[in-house]
Amino acid sequence: MSFDFDLFIIGAGSGGVRASRIAASHGAKVAVAEEYRVGGTCVIRGCVPKKMLVYGAHFAEDLHDAERFGWDIAGAAFNWPRLRDVVLADVTRLEGLYTQTLNNNAVTLFPERARVSGPQEVTLASGQKISAKVILIAVGAWPAVPNIPGAELGITSNEIFHLDTLPKRAVIAGAGYIANEFAGILHAFGVEVTLVTRGDRMLRGYDTEIVDRLVAMTTAKGVDIRFNFPFKAITRQGDGSLLVDGGEAGQIATDLVLFATGRTPKTQGLGLETAGVELDGNGAIMVDAYHRSNVASIYAVGDVTNRVQLTPVAIREGHAFADTVFGGRPRTIDYDAIPTAVFSSPPLAGVGMTECDARAAHGDQIKVYTSDFRPMKNVVSGRMERGLYKMITCGPEEKVIGLHLIGPDSSEILQAAAIAVKAGLTKAAFDDTVALHPSMAEELVLMK
Ligand code: NDP
Repeated sequence: MSFDFDLFIIGAGSGGVRASRIAASHGAKVAVAEEYRVGGTCVIRGCVPKKMLVYGAHFAEDLHDAERFGWDIAGAAFNWPRLRDVVLADVTRLEGLYTQTLNNNAVTLFPERARVSGPQEVTLASGQKISAKVILIAVGAWPAVPNIPGAELGITSNEIFHLDTLPKRAVIAGAGYIANEFAGILHAFGVEVTLVTRGDRMLRGYDTEIVDRLVAMTTAKGVDIRFNFPFKAITRQGDGSLLVDGGEAGQIATDLVLFATGRTPKTQGLGLETAGVELDGNGAIMVDAYHRSNVASIYAVGDVTNRVQLTPVAIREGHAFADTVFGGRPRTIDYDAIPTAVFSSPPLAGVGMTECDARAAHGDQIKVYTSDFRPMKNVVSGRMERGLYKMITCGPEEKVIGLHLIGPDSSEILQAAAIAVKAGLTKAAFDDTVALHPSMAEELVLMK
């Protein structure tokens, strides 16, 4: 049987683009359909523009501290439209590079929506039907907004990068990555931020002590954090502002509501039921270790599978899929010890087990080492903020099974240290390494 393409990918995000390039390099005839912009969430409205805003936000503290370092910077002011436009222009540049990658690899791009119309057929928005030996779904996820009255008055991370002007006040709903990152960003830009969470914990999955330190520092900076605040409704007031109703927890008047309440797989209307593809209760495509769904010709990678919603994981999955199906090299992904970071202010980062999880799994085999320190830069600038590093070891050989950091540049520092954790090194291996002085990273080899 002959097909129009060997591989048809729906979604030109991180996972889809990597899969297309690698499959093409293995000799496959590949097509990609993308309904919005090539690059996907990470490049267009996620990690990349967010990180640029984080850099922009950092100047607020740096400029404030500059005087103690001898610099007079009177008259410094923040200009949101300028930063926004620089960021959006760079996103367009990156989109061009991603598109070029597809072109360079002779991947056919259909800039329109596609849906699955059979196990080996897709139908484009234009009505054109295309057959493919293999279909890869890499459509990612979409912000989930609670089903409450007035939810349409709020925005999500999709819109935040495009604001005409910054609001005077903002309420951020959620206690995860996006909520904590944008609390730091908006606060630094001068917005009065209230961070509203439904439960009594932030950043589930991260080490409790590290998260507590973030909460304390975020509060000290002036962000109003409200725990146990059920988000019941939003109403528009006569003066154009918004009123967030938290029932017995109270009401909050604001100018902008940002929902950062998780992301759900974007499978609705994709025609997957037509082909008999099984989804889980969250609408995620269920796949095996080789990213194959219950339909032999249909695979899925990235956020649409709702396993680990992280760009580098989607990229690895796309690569492994292409090697497996088109490169004659079947391989699976190792999901163990994935380093992650929250680009909050200050950032936090972790790899491996938290203290709580490690204790639950290994009991008194666990030892915890910490370093609670005031970075030199903060001493000079008069900032009271302290960094906290934690190392969790297991067994008599003291293998490092978890490393958790909060403090300036912790995401940069953790990437290198994560190699040691992934490699299964011991506390003694860290101790044997001479400190690089003076640095914050040296705390990693000085923990007690
Ligand atoms: P997260 O999964 O990090 O957090 C979702 C938050 O929303 C949780 O705190 C959850 O609360 C809360 N929540 C869920 N439903 C409701 C509801 N109905 N009402 C109130 N609160 C609710 O989601 P994000 O949206 O922040 O980010 C989405 C994903 O994107 C992340 O999982 C992450 O994988 C990825 N991401 C990664 C980044 C990074 O690597 N630095 C940056 C940004 C995003 P509760 O804890 O009570 O369940």
